[in-house]
Amino acid sequence: MNIEKFRIAEGSKVDLASHRTDFTADYTDKQQAVEDLQKNVDRLRTLQDVLYAENKHTLLLIFQAMDAAGKDGAIEHVMSGVNPQGCHVISFKQPSSEELDHDYLWRCQKNLPGRGMIGIFNRSHYEEVLVVRVHPEYLKYQQLPDFTLNDKDIWKKRFKHIRDWEQHLTENGTHVIKFFLNVSKDEQKARFLSRIEEEDKNWKFSMGDVKERGHWDDYMKCYEDAIEETSTERSPWYIVPADKKWFTRLAVSEIVVKKLESMDLKYPTLTDEHKAELLEAKKMLESEAPA
Ligand code: ATP
Ligand code: MG
Repeated sequence: MNIEKFRIAEGSKVDLASHRTDFTADYTDKQQAVEDLQKNVDRLRTLQDVLYAENKHTLLLIFQAMDAAGKDGAIEHVMSGVNPQGCHVISFKQPSSEELDHDYLWRCQKNLPGRGMIGIFNRSHYEEVLVVRVHPEYLKYQQLPDFTLNDKDIWKKRFKHIRDWEQHLTENGTHVIKFFLNVSKDEQKARFLSRIEEEDKNWKFSMGDVKERGHWDDYMKCYEDAIEETSTERSPWYIVPADKKWFTRLAVSEIVVKKLESMDLKYPTLTDEHKAELLEAKKMLESEAPA
């Protein structure tokens, strides 16, 4: 699959209306996509083992989307083969009072994955330039100084903070990939209706989701700005079609596998001292008297 099709090059304009939400590349049905996803899941397990052993790089995957676009399912399926010890998932919800008592990047910084780990942000610091931008009244809960609260360039400056923070991360060993799961308004409606109609999906539905849907166009505009302003060579955005869940999962898995493959991961090489220790330990074990 040509994943470059989904990557937003640094400095390019984003017009979401021109990105097809129901695109499925050469796949005509789910069957083949599910088989290919499984191959990527297996490959991911192997690559993650080396990432963990090498303990040098970090991979941070950021998922953003409108409600019911399939973030949870994509994370669940793509990461299904990964050793849970090497993976850290965090879902960012409405900020707690402790979080509101700090700047908006604090909770993200606090939840960054360590070296050798794959970290997954299910929503992220981008909420600050999405939901908070759509509802600027949320800013007042943040106890910001007046010169920030009243700054007409507040969003422009927030984009810069985000670019700078991500640059800091990438220059210190954390590889960042950002996914926008691009679902259509019609498909979201169908998924909401099935959350209402199917009893075991009822828990996923909240009235707030329907209210946010009312701000669809504002969200699209904010996503376009956020992606344009923060997609960089080292920390790119991918706009992934999300009307067909099986395609979203396959595309995400393909992007993650290709990223890990490009990182030139290697198992650590042993020092001569360590090799000598292994031989010594072997000798000791073999010379033990039988129990
Ligand atoms: P699902 O797609 O399954 O509904 P979700 O990620 O929407 O999952 P929810 O618990 O439904 O999870 O919603 C989390 C809510 O928290 C979202 O509406 C999101 O916009 C909101 N949120 C996240 N970060 C912030 C923030 N910094 N300020 C205000 N609201 C936020
Ligand atoms: Mg929700």
